[in-house]
Amino acid sequence: MFVDQVKISVKAGKGGDGMVAFRREKFVPNGGPAGGDGGRGGDIVFKVDEGLRTLMDFRYQRKFKAKSGGNGAIKSMTGRGAEDTIISVPQGTTIMNDETGAVMGDLVASNDSVIIAHGGRGGRGNIHFASPKNPAPEIAENGEPGQEFDIRLELKVLADVGLVGFPSVGKSTLLSTVTSAKPKIAEYHFTTLVPNLGMVRLPDGRDFVMADLPGLIEGAAKGVGLGFQFLRHVERTRVILHLIDMSGLEGRNPYDDFEKINEELKAYDPDILKRPQIVVANKMDMPDSEDNLAQFKEDLAQDKLLANKPEIYAVSALTHKGLTPLLQRTADILAETPKFPVKQEETVKTAEYDFQPEPEFKITQDADGTWILSGAKLEKLFQMTDINHDESLLRFARQMRGMGVDDSLREHGAKNGDSVQIDDFVFEYMA
Ligand code: GDP
Ligand code: MG
Repeated sequence: MFVDQVKISVKAGKGGDGMVAFRREKFVPNGGPAGGDGGRGGDIVFKVDEGLRTLMDFRYQRKFKAKSGGNGAIKSMTGRGAEDTIISVPQGTTIMNDETGAVMGDLVASNDSVIIAHGGRGGRGNIHFASPKNPAPEIAENGEPGQEFDIRLELKVLADVGLVGFPSVGKSTLLSTVTSAKPKIAEYHFTTLVPNLGMVRLPDGRDFVMADLPGLIEGAAKGVGLGFQFLRHVERTRVILHLIDMSGLEGRNPYDDFEKINEELKAYDPDILKRPQIVVANKMDMPDSEDNLAQFKEDLAQDKLLANKPEIYAVSALTHKGLTPLLQRTADILAETPKFPVKQEETVKTAEYDFQPEPEFKITQDADGTWILSGAKLEKLFQMTDINHDESLLRFARQMRGMGVDDSLREHGAKNGDSVQIDDFVFEYMA
């Protein structure tokens, strides 16, 4: 079974903490700062693995966390940078911020990868805080926290191969004959036009997704009843199997059918005709089919609509004759045809997801009168403060003042001696 949408959470690694340390040399009582920096936290990276076709794996693991950077050490040694955490996804996976819905990455190409959550930088050790005034600082930074997100993965590339053709030419029969697994298509809110999907797996291990696109011909060119999802679906179809009923039993001319369908495809989107198209001459088990196919080939020589003459495979979806060469050729063409980028998304592809400017800090007051400081920037500063060293705390106090926290507290009515809390750390307000 297919799962085409899944929610997971990711957290990049925290940077390693910087260290407070001093050189110890013979004859030098206090040899100056020598606390090294913390190493980088690992990123969370999504990368295409061409062997994957589904998001199944994510049903078993939904939380991903990258490693923290190593802490800084004595003798000015920098902590070790953490390895990135690489998460493999199928080609065509879109990664969205689950809160905002913004696209964070669209892994279209076979070797695409994208950093979704950046690891925190390492905190600086006390070697960085020495100054003529303060030659032996007891100040170090903790590592920066890694970014974390709740994200949604969507696998939109459901159809590698699309079946087109008039009603009753044998599309459904072919699909049910050659496909085994049925993908779940719960995400597709079609009322009438439900593409029928299936996985084709060849004996040599190659596989692809095939979709019957029934509504396309009847309604798509006129925009009737098609959802956006469906359009995307068609847009990523890389090979079109154009089924023709060669029996002539319905009283139609096979070549007329062929032209009409191509006109419809063109009206829907001229680019579709540039895609590889294979003519599947179906119902070859019927008496008149051979003659009709011969005539069709003659007519096809006159065709002007298609850029490249389509190859023709004579088959019977009913008796399975000729299907193996057709599927193998289809897989060959797929292997050499690049995936088509989705047009609608090109504009949003590079969009940043950090748009909303957040206030640097927020002040609220809880029931017992304690002032609560919050806000991403301020909280991060605090998390990076090594509260075990008074000097580091003093530095944090200066940083807060610089951001305007003191002034704002006063404006809110804070008085000398009031309690102020950030995270679980409480201190006294001094005006
Ligand atoms: P669709 O409308 O294109 O999906 O066509 P269907 O798959 O529903 O087939 C329409 C009819 O054609 C059904 O009665 C099928 O059994 C029949 N059919 C499909 N393929 C073949 C074939 O290769 N040979 C013969 N004789 N009949 C076929
Ligand atoms: Mg059908």
